Amino acid sequence: MTFRVTILGCSSARPTATRHHTAHVLNVHEQFFLIDSGEGTQYQLLRYGINPLKINAIFITHLHGDHVYGIFGLLSTMSMMGRTRRLEIIAPHPFGEMLRSHFGFFGVELPYPLDINEVDTRASGIDVWSNRVFSVSSLPLRHRVPCCGYLFREHEPSLNVHKHLVEGYGLTPVQIAVLKQGRDTTLANGAPLTAREATYRPYTPRSYAFCSDTTPSGKVAALVEGVDLLYHESTYLHEDKALAAKTGHSTALQAARIARQANVRHLLLGHYSARYKSLAPLLDEARSEFPETLLGHDGLALTIEKDHSLRVSRL
Ligand SMILES: [Zn+2]
Repeated sequence: MTFRVTILGCSSARPTATRHHTAHVLNVHEQFFLIDSGEGTQYQLLRYGINPLKINAIFITHLHGDHVYGIFGLLSTMSMMGRTRRLEIIAPHPFGEMLRSHFGFFGVELPYPLDINEVDTRASGIDVWSNRVFSVSSLPLRHRVPCCGYLFREHEPSLNVHKHLVEGYGLTPVQIAVLKQGRDTTLANGAPLTAREATYRPYTPRSYAFCSDTTPSGKVAALVEGVDLLYHESTYLHEDKALAAKTGHSTALQAARIARQANVRHLLLGHYSARYKSLAPLLDEARSEFPETLLGHDGLALTIEKDHSLRVSRL
């Protein structure tokens, strides 16, 4: 029941020798999802041991090159790796037209079906994707072009029946199924067995919000209330806040204020301007407002455990 975010790139428009363009991979119960695909995404997948063929769907926040240029090579590489399984891409308009134009120019014909769903970036909390494990809703961001974030949230899991009761009472598959639905059952001796005493929730739903690129937004803070992990862009230090406002970005302090306002468990920073050689000042600035802040960097993996604690590893 994994719930893990891996950062492939943490740089903004201009990359550095150690910071690639934006891309995150979310692993939910061993189903993989790519969020943004800056240049070099396929190399970073190789570097961190994530098989591109495992990717179920791709979520794009907006059509700026540092979030999209990596998708062209990645889609072609999937072809050469023998992908036949359908791939879904969720992105703002006019992503479909842009991709078809690229395919037309380079004569690309994919051997697998591609579903492109364009998102209304102005709408709040619209469900854009779901399966039996979790669902994804959009977050209206404020940037220089249409842009939306994504909120990934697990569904309530089905109830589990205590193993010692299954064995102790010799429960039948039908009795177990009834209990899992939250209903009471009757034992072979006629005694009642309530779902309340026989079952437990294996975990409570975990959540991850991805917000890049954007100026600070109270509307977004309300939509990500209480999430386990909020990724919020922090392109600049607060001393450069005028530049942040002009370019449609946020400072580390502003990201931390959103995290505090939204009462999230942890804040993850990223999308740093290449002007900062050291990222420590961005972390210090954010932690002065919101102590539970982590500095994102390429190869950082964050696992949200079933008890909602955060396990940090470096790949
Ligand atoms: Zn942008």
